[in-house]
Amino acid sequence: MILQTQPEPLLQVRALHKSFGAHDVLKGVDLTVRPGEVSFVIGPSGGGKSTLIRCINFLETPSAGEIMFDGRHLCREEGNVFHVAPERELRAARSEMPMVFQHFNLFSHRTVIENVIEGPVMVKRRRRDEAIADAERLLAEVGLADKADRYPDELSGGQKQRVAIARALAMQPKLILFDEPTSALDPELVAGILDTIRALAERGMTLVVVSHEMGFARRLADVVHFIADGAIVESGPPQRIFDAPENPRLAAFIRSIL
Ligand code: ADP
Ligand code: MG
Repeated sequence: MILQTQPEPLLQVRALHKSFGAHDVLKGVDLTVRPGEVSFVIGPSGGGKSTLIRCINFLETPSAGEIMFDGRHLCREEGNVFHVAPERELRAARSEMPMVFQHFNLFSHRTVIENVIEGPVMVKRRRRDEAIADAERLLAEVGLADKADRYPDELSGGQKQRVAIARALAMQPKLILFDEPTSALDPELVAGILDTIRALAERGMTLVVVSHEMGFARRLADVVHFIADGAIVESGPPQRIFDAPENPRLAAFIRSIL
C-alpha cells in the first residue's frame, strides 16, 4: 500500500481571535490551506469573513492565536503571550499573499501599468524596466493589453478588477486572497471576472475566495468554509456543504441564497 502524504499547509491558522474594542469579531478560527488548493469562505454578512482574510495578511492585526504562512509564523502564542513577527516580515508575507478587494482599491491618480508595477518596484525592489515588461505581459493575460496607459476612472468595474488581479499577480504571489471580487460589479461583468479567477485556479494558484457566487464556489472550490458569528461552523467539499449541510445555520443560509 502506498501511503499518500498531504503536502505541508501553505497557510495554517489556529485559534485566531480579533476584537475591535469590546466587540469579539473572530472567536477562535482554525483554517488550513494547502498549496494549489482553492478555498471558499461563505457566510452571512457581518459574520467576520473580511476580518478573517484581512487578519491573515495582517491588514488587520489579530488579537490572539496563530498564523503560519509558508513555514513562518506571522503571529503565535507562547505561554499566554501573543507574539507578532517584525513589520519587515509581515510586509514580505503580505506581498506574497496579496488581496483583491470588492472595490478594487486602485490608485486613481496612476495609470493602469503604474498601478501594476507599484508593488514590484516599491516593495520587491524590482528594476522598473523589468517590472514594466512583466506588467505588460500580465495585462495581456487578463485582456487589458490596450489599457496600460489609461487611468482607473476610464475603465469599467470589470476592467478595474482585472487590473487588481494583474497587480496581485505581479507580486509573484504564493496565495491570493479575494474579498467578494464580483460584488461591486454590474451583473454582465461578473462572469468575466469569475473566468479570470478560474484560470488562476487551473494554473495551480492557491486561492482563498470570499464570495456569494455559490454556483461558482460549487464548481471551483476544493473546500468551502462556512463562517458565522466569528467562527467556522462547518467546512467540507462543496457537494457536501451545498447538498448535505449538517449545521442548521448553514442549512438555513443555503436555503436563503438559493
Ligand atoms: P463580513 O465580511 O462577513 O460581512 P466583517 O468581517 O466585515 O464581516 O465584519 C464582522 C464584524 O466586525 C461586523 O460586526 C463589523 O461591524 C465588525 N467590524 C469589521 N471591521 C471593523 C472595524 N474596523 N472596526 C470595528 N468593527 C469592525
Ligand atoms: Mg466582507
